[in-house]
Amino acid sequence: MAGVYIHIPFCKQTCSYCDFHFSTSLKSKEAFVSSLIHEIELQINYLGKDTIIQTIYFGGGTPSILSAAELDKIFKTLYKNFNISNNAEITLEANPDDLSSEKLQQLKQSPVNRLSIGIQSFFEDDLKLMNRAHSAVQAEKCIIKSQDAGFENITIDLIYGTPGLTNTNWKKNLAKVFSYGIPHLSSYSLTVEEKTPLESHIKKGKIKPVDEHQSAEQFLILMEETTKHGFEQYEISNFGKPGFHSQHNSNYWKGIKYLGLGPSAHSFDGNSRQWNVANNFRYIQSISENTIPAEKEILTTEQKFNEYMMIGLRTSTGISLEKVQTAFGEDYLNKLLAEAKNYMDCSKITLKSNHLVLTNSGKLIADRISSDFFV
Ligand code: SF4
Repeated sequence: MAGVYIHIPFCKQTCSYCDFHFSTSLKSKEAFVSSLIHEIELQINYLGKDTIIQTIYFGGGTPSILSAAELDKIFKTLYKNFNISNNAEITLEANPDDLSSEKLQQLKQSPVNRLSIGIQSFFEDDLKLMNRAHSAVQAEKCIIKSQDAGFENITIDLIYGTPGLTNTNWKKNLAKVFSYGIPHLSSYSLTVEEKTPLESHIKKGKIKPVDEHQSAEQFLILMEETTKHGFEQYEISNFGKPGFHSQHNSNYWKGIKYLGLGPSAHSFDGNSRQWNVANNFRYIQSISENTIPAEKEILTTEQKFNEYMMIGLRTSTGISLEKVQTAFGEDYLNKLLAEAKNYMDCSKITLKSNHLVLTNSGKLIADRISSDFFV
């Protein structure tokens, strides 16, 4: 079993907080699609010939920027070259301004069966601050239109901790999710990444800095409200109704191998990780020369352990002590238990069925705890 991730490196405009790889010039879109198709053919053996593909995820960038014909070409090549499961979860990230009724009908006729919509907020002020391409009205309309088109498996993204977002408005944002019956939510606090327009606006005093305390309060509200409405927090930032957890991301967290296609996409084969160049021109150029433009690293035992600490702790399953012992040995287990004891003593971590699991207050400092577990 394996997954495929496809990075579509184009966006209509630059969201102020974003540090993903994308270009707002669409001039090379056609050439990119041809290169992507060629990369699929070049990477046919990466996951092993008979491996069944259980999940496909179109991320970006903005995958909904692809035309129906472009998407069709990509799917034809994927199905021709890979062994894709009949019940594969196939997710496409979409921005609200792209989701016209016509576009949704086209998507419905494609193999896409899960939509991930970048709503971020239902308030105009937040959307302006983030420089999103859509309006608050479009944010709501696209949900109704997606459901009318027959999409049931919908996830939306929401951002909290935005300067100016009150707890009352944050609760209103969450109430919209519940009122539309959306079965999955990914929610992140606004982080100020280096060299983004948001960082520059804050430095110049045009926007207030992000308030850590407000962000923590809104995270607690998020956990409380989603629990009340029947969502399971199966990963720190991911909340799903039973049966609607993201299979693609869950497989990442279980360490299942995946192939990443497109500029900046990462791949993992169980032992090594590789990542394509984050540059559209160089990607297209290299693929035209039949060369995957990737750097590769073989993961050391320490790296594998640290990754397991970071990822395992973020999931509701937690860190399996049995797995630590069998995969990494007694010394790793003893060191981990010694570090974990401090956090268990102050109720940031609990021991459940031989797994170390974060409590809600522990989730607020998850990164600090996992870095203390690193070797
Ligand atoms: S649409 Fe997504 S990828 Fe594009 S700039 Fe905005 S946040 Fe970044």
